Parts: sequence; C-alpha cells; structure tokens
Amino acid sequence: MCEIVDVTFDLKTYEYSEPFRIANNVEDKADNIEVKVHLKDGTVGVGEASSSYRVNGEKVPALLALQDTVKEMISGEDVRNYKRIFDIMDGLSRTAPSVKAAVQYATLDALSIVIGVPVYQILGGNKSKIHTDKTIGIDTIDIMVEKARKTFNEGFKTLKIKIGENLKEDIEKMIAISEATPGAFYIVDANQGYTAKTAIQFAKSVYAQNVNVVVFEQPVMWNDLDGLKLLRYNSPFPIAADESAKTRHDVYALIRNECVDFVNIKLMKSGLSDALSIVELAKTTNIGLMIGCMGESSVGINQSVHFAAGTGAFAYHDLDSHMMLKAEFRGKFKQEGDTLIPNVQ
Ligand code: MN
Repeated sequence: MCEIVDVTFDLKTYEYSEPFRIANNVEDKADNIEVKVHLKDGTVGVGEASSSYRVNGEKVPALLALQDTVKEMISGEDVRNYKRIFDIMDGLSRTAPSVKAAVQYATLDALSIVIGVPVYQILGGNKSKIHTDKTIGIDTIDIMVEKARKTFNEGFKTLKIKIGENLKEDIEKMIAISEATPGAFYIVDANQGYTAKTAIQFAKSVYAQNVNVVVFEQPVMWNDLDGLKLLRYNSPFPIAADESAKTRHDVYALIRNECVDFVNIKLMKSGLSDALSIVELAKTTNIGLMIGCMGESSVGINQSVHFAAGTGAFAYHDLDSHMMLKAEFRGKFKQEGDTLIPNVQ
C-alpha cells in the first residue's frame, strides 16, 4: 500500500509582486515544478522544485523531461523505507538538485500522510515554530530604507539586505537602513558581487558605524575559496557561504579549508539528504547555520519550514520567497507575522 506507483511533474509559473533584484540578476517570475509521488493506496505526497540556472545550472525544460526517468528510478519503492529513495535521488545531486529535493520531500510528505505524523516530527520535532527574516532587494537608497522601515515595523526583526553592485552606495545604504530600523539584525548578502578586498572594506566600514550585521553572505565568487578564507580572517562579521555550498562535499571542503563561519543551506541546492549531512557536519565543527530559499511558493517553503523546525538546526531562517510571489497560500504551516508554525496533524 505504501509503494510508489507514479510520479508526476506539473509546471507552475508564479509572478513576483515586483521584480526582485540581487547583484547582477533580476527575477520577475518563478517557473516551479510541482512534484507528486503517488502511492498504491491513493496517497499523494507533494513537493516543489524551484530551480536555479544561476546557482545550480538547471534549466526548466530539461528538468521537466526527467519525469518518466524519475518514475522509473523509484517506482515500487516503499516510502516507509525513505532512505532508499533518498539514496536513489542522490544520483541527481549535480544535474537536478531541485528535482532531487522535491522528490525527497514528496516522499516524506506521502509517508507523513500514511503514518499520521507531520514531516517536521519525522525529522525530529526539535522546534514547534521558527522565525523568518524578510529580504530587501537592490534598489535606490530611498526605496531600500523605506522598505526596511516598513518591514521592520511589520514585525520582522531580522532583515536581509541585498548588496554587491557598488561598494560606496552599499555602505551608505547600510548606515541609512540601520538608522531607520534601530534594534534590527541584518543579514547582508552580496551574491558574489565583491572581490575579497572590496568585501573587507565594506565589512570594516559598516562595523565602524556599529551596524548590527549578524551574517555577511557570499561576498565573493562561489569558486573563490581563497577569497572566502581571507575574508573569514579579516571581516569582523561572520562569513557565510551560499553559492559556494551546494552539496555535502562542498561544505566539507569549505570547513576543512577554514573558509566559513556560517553555511546557508537551501533544499533546492542540496535536497533533504545533503541538507541533513550538512547539518551534522556543521554541528560537529561548530559552524553556524542559516536556511534560505530560491523562488519557492508556499508549497516549497513548506518543505524548509518542516526541515528547519524538525532539525532545529538554524540560527537564522530566510524563508520568505512565498511572500514575494503572487500565489494562493497552500503550505502545511501557519504564518503569523515573522513566525512560521508547522501544522500538527
Ligand atoms: Mn544568498
């Protein structure tokens, strides 16, 4: 009754409420793939792949074409033996990590329905709620300050600020935002826009103005491990890897080479299997963790809410993409301001 008999992919296109700009990239829509795992007894588990060409090298038509292959790979497997399905899907780590994530989550969602235990409890039930930040995309200084003020007043205590296109303006923006939102915490994300030396200048200048940056994310190119290491030892703020940290093997190399203080885990880069490994790697080596997202709707954010609450592993949660998309809410969690609460069945 718990055997997988079918796997279906559906393309869902969601528009952003307004174009979302980060260093050297703008998104106006998310082409997500809703993945359904169908069991013999009629149970349907749901997951969502929000792919990224920029980070993962994924293209949507190529991912959609994997539907029948994935069906062939996991048909007949019993979702109660979910580790077997996780291991099979690890084969897609390099070529289709967002599909790997969606299939692994849909497997747990189906199991969750069968056994009547929510996914966050299957994963450990560590926390019953988490708090998310909200992101301010790159814009003019006046618009960014106004958005930061409004978002902070809505109850988001941690603001994620996108920078990385202009050092001088970025420093001015951070000082102005900090003056407008006293008491806020900032995760600053340069999305690979700086060199190590400009990033050091940014961090030292902003630190001297007492701006409360809690994490400085991916200042340099994903493959610049020497730059990350230089920064880690010269930035007053903790340095996080995002684009540099996709698989468990990437994170092992980052930690071994002393490149990071923090890792930003995203299910869309790692799937659940590598994300679970990274959690243990980071805990073992005293590296901090945050969890982020790509362009997931509430269906995809649901995956990270249950993962983050279940493992309880994250100091910061950046699970806000569903708030930026024009889409009906369909998550198995409740949201009250910045608080995300996985549903109890
Ligand atoms: Mn990032």
